[in-house]
Amino acid sequence: MSRSSICLAALSAPVAANKLGPPSPACQAQPSGTGGGRGGGTGGREGLSCTDRVLVRVQDLIPEKADQLIWLRARVHTSRAKGKQCFLVLRQQQFNLQALVAVGDRASKQMVKFAANITKESIVDVEAFVRTVEQKIESCSQQDVELHIERIFVISQAEPRLPLQLEDAVRPDGDGEEEGRATVNQDTKLDNRVIDLRTTTSQAIFRLQSGVCQLFRDTLTEKGFVEIQTPKIISAASEGGANVFTVSYFKTSAYLAQSPQLYKQMCICGDFEKVFCVGPVFRAEDSNTHRHLTEFVGLDIEMAFSYHYHEVIDSITDTMVRIFKGLRDNFQTEIQTVNKQFPSEPFKFLEPTLRLEYTEAVAMLHEAGVEMGDEEDLSTPNEKLLGRLVKEKYDTDFYVLDKYPLAVRPFYTMPDPNNPKYSNSYDMFMRGEEILSGAQRVHDAQLLTDRANHHQIDLEKIKAYIDSFRYGAPPHGGGGIGLERVCMLYLGLHNIRQTSMFPRDPKRLTP
Ligand code: ATP
Repeated sequence: MSRSSICLAALSAPVAANKLGPPSPACQAQPSGTGGGRGGGTGGREGLSCTDRVLVRVQDLIPEKADQLIWLRARVHTSRAKGKQCFLVLRQQQFNLQALVAVGDRASKQMVKFAANITKESIVDVEAFVRTVEQKIESCSQQDVELHIERIFVISQAEPRLPLQLEDAVRPDGDGEEEGRATVNQDTKLDNRVIDLRTTTSQAIFRLQSGVCQLFRDTLTEKGFVEIQTPKIISAASEGGANVFTVSYFKTSAYLAQSPQLYKQMCICGDFEKVFCVGPVFRAEDSNTHRHLTEFVGLDIEMAFSYHYHEVIDSITDTMVRIFKGLRDNFQTEIQTVNKQFPSEPFKFLEPTLRLEYTEAVAMLHEAGVEMGDEEDLSTPNEKLLGRLVKEKYDTDFYVLDKYPLAVRPFYTMPDPNNPKYSNSYDMFMRGEEILSGAQRVHDAQLLTDRANHHQIDLEKIKAYIDSFRYGAPPHGGGGIGLERVCMLYLGLHNIRQTSMFPRDPKRLTP
């Protein structure tokens, strides 16, 4: 039998799958008539066409539905034959429930065998009675009911050998080692991402990630920001020549955008006042770390301000706090699900958000025994140590570090008017790791030219950018946030590949 063909078999009338005629695409799971199977004494139900049939959702199967006859389409999560019975766990996304096929009036011995032989991960349609159970079924999301199957049809059959077992992929590290139970390493999960995405943990992670994007969009839209789209193929590297992917572009070459930086600023010069964008960002960094990807999703913000760049910081921190609250209030199930496999402390934040100056952070590090210069950039270990010190002192996992040394920031950063060694720039941190870099930008074409010269940037290549400031530009600032980092750190995960659906890093370009 071709795997792509639809295999139909009615519980009450076992029909060998390979004797069935070609699938009827319009009504693939129809138990009788056009599908080729025989309903076999199912009373009035034979006349039902599948377009009249209502498929229920697993999460809606609760005790109130007891004794109803329902249709359900789901995957076979597990199956276990025991004497004259076969217990199945049927799964839809993160929800599952127990189902039973038992030899009796409605099912023959062959049908129990048929059900037991359906391969794990196959998609089936079942017609079944919902029954309440005496003892809670702890291993399923629907603990108070089970299904007593009347008929079962295979809609899409999975190959018998799965590249990984879903229950192994969600086992916490070290759990069950004594009993010899397996866990699945990350590369195997990523190599077989489609299967791995079916796990409760992945379902929860990417639902929460969708929540972050939604909350980001909703909050900024409510604040009067306009969502923009910026080009990803660009003629000049936005942050200088390093870390940029070159692509061939007809008879010449182009670059993949390292950030939407220059374009979102140009939109400010084009009088949009407050803009944001959500889109891919490319970095040709050979960084094989837990927090670097070569392609990630940038959540970018840029806005004109009235009198002080702290208006920008306040807008961004308010947006982040709205995201944290939205996740806390609407994604508890997802957070708990991820926590089962990867335990972590709940994410803490303050209102208003804690803002420290760079010099204060350096002083805290000095006090903790770290040797570093006042104008030196924060190394990753120092960044993490600072996160721990801040947590101990202020009890927050989210804070802003303001007034970075000018020397460690990009050319378009506004110097601090009161101290030329520092700048009106900031980073934001979650659980001691950077999630955002931002600044007030230079909006004066001459100063921008001087700063670019200072950084030895070829002015010719950024002419269009510098020219945008020649015809009047409001004071403005913004920042770029890494979506995968926000999700990783909010959930207390330790590898960014877990929060990238199909991660790209120096060693991985597929799937
Ligand atoms: P890092 O110092 O951690 O390499 P960066 O200073 O290069 O980061 P920016 O260029 O300022 O980062 O980018 C802004 C934000 O984009 C970062 O705070 C982070 O959230 C995200 N980001 C930057 N580089 C990466 C990357 N390679 N992979 C995933 N996210 C990234």
